[in-house]
Amino acid sequence: MIEEILKNVLGNRVKVSTDISPFLTLKTGVKVPYLFVVESLSDWLKVGRLLKEGIRIFVIGGGSNLVVKKPDPQVLFVLNRYAKKKLLKEEEDKVYIKVSSGYPISKLVKETVRKGWGGLEYHWGLPGSVGGAVYMNSKWTKPLSYVGDVVYEAVLLTPKGEVKKVNQEYFKFSYDYSILQETGEIVLEVVFALKKEDGEVLYKRAVEAYNYRRKTQPFGVFSSGCFFKNISLELQEKLSLPTTSAGYLIDKAGLKGFRVGSFEISQKHANFIINKGGGKIEDLEKLIEIVKKRVKEKFKVDLELEVVIF
Ligand SMILES: Cc1cc2nc3c(=O)[nH]c(=O)nc-3n(C[C@H](O)[C@H](O)[C@H](O)COP(=O)(O)OP(=O)(O)OC[C@H]3O[C@@H](n4cnc5c(N)ncnc54)[C@H](O)[C@@H]3O)c2cc1C
Repeated sequence: MIEEILKNVLGNRVKVSTDISPFLTLKTGVKVPYLFVVESLSDWLKVGRLLKEGIRIFVIGGGSNLVVKKPDPQVLFVLNRYAKKKLLKEEEDKVYIKVSSGYPISKLVKETVRKGWGGLEYHWGLPGSVGGAVYMNSKWTKPLSYVGDVVYEAVLLTPKGEVKKVNQEYFKFSYDYSILQETGEIVLEVVFALKKEDGEVLYKRAVEAYNYRRKTQPFGVFSSGCFFKNISLELQEKLSLPTTSAGYLIDKAGLKGFRVGSFEISQKHANFIINKGGGKIEDLEKLIEIVKKRVKEKFKVDLELEVVIF
């Protein structure tokens, strides 16, 4: 039934039983029943038609914050490769650029810094897509800077297949949060409002953030970035902890280098889980449970996942 509807709308562009590990930075191997690679707005409108027919979909952007556990056979996985960018409007001190959601965020950051357009510079080196970064409201903490800070408006696709335009307030952006995590809406296009600044100053900020990443995070390995959310300031104060960092708690729980199967807590940054190759999802799940249990026992903190497990 689902296969027939997918074939009707997508023809032979729907791929059956596809290994998606190449599209996930943690490289967890899993086959999805149906995969459609979106390359344009008209492809997204086809997805809209499928939503109207009751098909459920799941979007993979850059796959840099994602683990797919056991794919539901009734779900179409959509790999977002819709990557376009356009300068919409230029004011004396601001520019407005429209960027499609499959655009690589790291590419966008480099291009805007080079142009002297400020607001995204601290995300130099952030993997993933524009859509994923908006959904997660991806951040840099030194100084605190969210991708959502410079979102002006966006075009979304609702779970019922309707296209709608929303402004920044709609997203209710906060730490690791946008309203999309509740509504299930998909980002199609985003307009960013960026401030005209000295390109050299922007580049300096970008390089500082990038160098800090290189110094503190594991590179050239399979990971999905920070696995757990940092705790709130209120909880930090209540428990008299020296920091909100989940990595600190995992480290002090003695878990650096701890391994289950092919998954290991990074020696360099305890909030990074690394897949040493061929890791099984069951082992990852065991490791997550051990981390949560040990941190709870030692600090009375219930760690929450930052990575999306679907
Ligand atoms: C080495 C490394 C470093 C990282 N550093 C940081 C960092 O500094 N700060 C930070 O915040 N994160 C960081 N991350 C995590 C990750 O890169 C970000 O969260 C990123 O923005 C996720 O984007 P993505 O396109 O890869 O999303 P995906 O992993 O593909 O998806 C994540 C979630 O977003 C949803 N999604 C994706 N696209 C859309 C869309 N178009 N519309 C609606 N929902 C969508 C997916 O369905 C899924 O639920 C890091 C990851 C790695 C591997």
